[in-house]
Amino acid sequence: MDLKFLKDEPSHLERLAVDRVLGPEAQDAPPVGYREAKARRTLLLPALHALQSRVGWVSRGGLAYVSRRLAVAPAEAFGVASFYALFSLAERPAAFAHVCDDVACHAAGAEGVCAELEQELGPAAHGHSKTGGREAHGGSWAKSPCLGLCEQAPAALVTRAGDPSSEVSFGGATAARVASVLKGGAPPWVTPHVGGLGPRRLLERVNVVDPTSLDEYRAHGGYEALRKAIELGPELVIREVTTAMLVGRGGAAFPTGRKWEAVAKAPVRPHFVVCNADESEPGTFKDRVLIEGDPFALVEAMTVAGLATGSERGYVYLRGEYPLAWERLSGAIAAARSRGLLGHDVMGKGVRFDLELRKGAGAYICGEETALFASIEGFRGEPRTKPPFPVQSGLFGKPTAINNVETLIATLDIVKHGAAAYASVGTSGSPGTKLFCVSGKVRKGGVYEVPFGTTLGALLELAGGTERKVKAILLGGAAGTFVTPEQLDLKLSFEDTRKAGTTLGSGVVLVLDDTVSLWPILKRIAAFFRDESCGQCVPCRVGTVRQEELLTRLSNGASAAEELKLFAELSQAMRDASICGLGQTATSAIESALTRLVPGGAR
Ligand code: SF4
Repeated sequence: MDLKFLKDEPSHLERLAVDRVLGPEAQDAPPVGYREAKARRTLLLPALHALQSRVGWVSRGGLAYVSRRLAVAPAEAFGVASFYALFSLAERPAAFAHVCDDVACHAAGAEGVCAELEQELGPAAHGHSKTGGREAHGGSWAKSPCLGLCEQAPAALVTRAGDPSSEVSFGGATAARVASVLKGGAPPWVTPHVGGLGPRRLLERVNVVDPTSLDEYRAHGGYEALRKAIELGPELVIREVTTAMLVGRGGAAFPTGRKWEAVAKAPVRPHFVVCNADESEPGTFKDRVLIEGDPFALVEAMTVAGLATGSERGYVYLRGEYPLAWERLSGAIAAARSRGLLGHDVMGKGVRFDLELRKGAGAYICGEETALFASIEGFRGEPRTKPPFPVQSGLFGKPTAINNVETLIATLDIVKHGAAAYASVGTSGSPGTKLFCVSGKVRKGGVYEVPFGTTLGALLELAGGTERKVKAILLGGAAGTFVTPEQLDLKLSFEDTRKAGTTLGSGVVLVLDDTVSLWPILKRIAAFFRDESCGQCVPCRVGTVRQEELLTRLSNGASAAEELKLFAELSQAMRDASICGLGQTATSAIESALTRLVPGGAR
């Protein structure tokens, strides 16, 4: 391939970091051909992660070296590096703090933390906008979208470059704590709160077993589902999952059995299974708690999915902001491999399946399945138009079953105990149990597992209730809708929430009370979508900016009648003409707030 590479050279450390991922550079090697470059492009993000973890940023010399080693045009490599918010193209200190100012953290006082940090450490680094590029300002901290620690808000993530590098996230962040962790102090550790009503199927082992011990996992029922799945065979496994009416728990609610069956029957080979662990919806943290607390369950569930769909390889795409989940899952995969539970002869039964763990780099849009594939393949996380659907042409253009963490782990109970037992709780339209991420102004924020059909009020009681008058509850995350305190008898099932004009989404239940001002929350949601839009289609790229401007005008006292008419047209255009779910749902929470909560709104 005739590519022109930059002349910039990497430093010794940068070269070492990249070589750890790509192997040492061969002297006098022939130019890389198109096929080889295509096959190796998937290593682009891991190489950029290695570079940043070693020297603290993606330097020009380092990027030039990665681009040359992988035969990716420099402009393309820059396009990828600049797409992901966790990569910095500006030099900055080795220790860097990301301080969450998203909805739950905002309600918990993150603005105050940021103001104090500004006094103590200077202005925040800025410029993570995918549409506006990033500016070269290298402070030691930056504001961040949701870090998935909402139950412990306000939250922070501190990364430290070096060899070894380190990353730690923690809740209960104060300016003093962030500054202390930046200087090498130990962060506070809080065991996540979990609870529930009725049978615990998903949280069975969380906070009960040692998540680093395969033996404890097995002593508590681990690997019984895989043993049964091997006995049943792929067709019966899929039949059980289909009969159980399991649907995706990430928000789209697509039937899992149908997805698995379509991949199993696809004539094109190889097949892949992918776990979408890029849990970036503001207010969502259940998958983090599951992986940190029960990582072997995900490894086992991926193996069951591989068996059912005829896939010999699986990928877990984990969000870059989850360092403990990364550590636990890496450990679980290594332990499973060393004990014959992954590899070419799983459990000695002739099943071939192995897993690869990939790290996201701070892009909400990579939770969209085709954007996630693009990211694993080494591209900007830009969604593709569908069809073709992933079951026909997914990762690397091959039939792919993609499910989120909660969905996959739910299959273990279904395979082990059968579809009928699974459906013994829940409603006829939504059998089984569901995890909810309860945060905001409740006494015991945490992850709660309840049967579908439990009321919103009962869930809030489980979380200890509230101290003050509830103003609004955000259901389903930033892409969800607000409901009012009068709706506490709402049953949490797919059919009941649909009827009420709301959504379960990814299981977010974020409570705002009368101490929280609504306008800053709505503006933060609008800013979030403006920043996270990948920018490739006009209705979303422009619409998210217009939405933010409109909110600013409304909050400054512009004519509600005129602005709301415009808003209705804007959101209709975005719903109808955006390529993916981000643009289609970017106005839903704000629209629900303006129609249900703001006095004299659109009513
Ligand atoms: Fe990108 Fe938004 Fe279009 Fe989705 S809707 S493809 S996020 S610009």
